[in-house]
Parts: sequence; structure tokens; C-alpha cells
Amino acid sequence: MLGRLARWLRALGFDTVYDERLSDHALVALARAEQRVLLTRDRHLLRELRPAAALEIQADAPLEQLRAVVRTLGLRPPTELFLRCLLCNTPLEPASAEERATLVPPASRDLPGPVRRCPGCGRVYWEGSHVRRMRAALDAALPGWRSGGGALE
Ligand SMILES: [Zn+2]
Repeated sequence: MLGRLARWLRALGFDTVYDERLSDHALVALARAEQRVLLTRDRHLLRELRPAAALEIQADAPLEQLRAVVRTLGLRPPTELFLRCLLCNTPLEPASAEERATLVPPASRDLPGPVRRCPGCGRVYWEGSHVRRMRAALDAALPGWRSGGGALE
């Protein structure tokens, strides 16, 4: 339900578990065991299972949800964006020259910016149009956060 919010949080580098297969009870237990803040739209879950640390998400738009999380939890802008896999949450590693040559499409190979690879799922990230669109959307939602290192005072 909050999959897009999870991707935004990962883009900002925040360690974010998202697994639709987990039951409500398993979610609450995982959050408690790993000292995570449970983000949910499910008021019933909050009332019945009383997670130790939780935030109810009320907005519908993912970027509005992100703003609410950043504001409520007092999150700070990261020094750099896109250091964590959007799909599986694993910290990314720099791609080798060989990986760059074989995994990035020819049209994108000469783009400036880093190329990173996920050691978890193998996905490769570069500064293509998708990343640029995400930076622009982030700039509108959280001014100063797009390049990382910005201040939100
Ligand atoms: Zn991954």
C-alpha cells in the first residue's frame, strides 16, 4: 500500500523495509525487533496491535506522504541521493568499468554521474531520465534535497 513511499525513502538513503507478504502481526514484531518506526495507513492496526513506534500516514500522494514522514520524524537531508536500491533496500556499490560497459544501455553510457549496482538484486542505477525526474519531483516536494546535502531549516 505504501510501496511508492518506500521507494522515495530508499532514494533518500533511509533503511526501509517493505514487504507486502508480511501479516500485521509480523510487521509489528519486525518493527519492534529492529527498532523501526512502522509507517501505516491502517488505523485498525495501530489501535489493535499498538506498535512501539509508529506513524499513521494520511496523505494519498506518495510525495505528500514523504513530506509528512520527513517533517514528523525530523529526518535530515542525505549528503547524496540514490545510494540504496529502490527495489530491495540494499546499499548500492559503484559499478566497475566492465559492468558500466555491459549493463548500461549504449545511449546512456556517456551520461555524467555515477553508475551503481545493487549487490542484492543486481539492478543498475545511472543518472538517466528516471533519476532526473525523481530529482525534479523531490526538489518540488522537499526544496534543497534533490542534490543531497541541502538544508531544510
Ligand atoms: Zn536491489
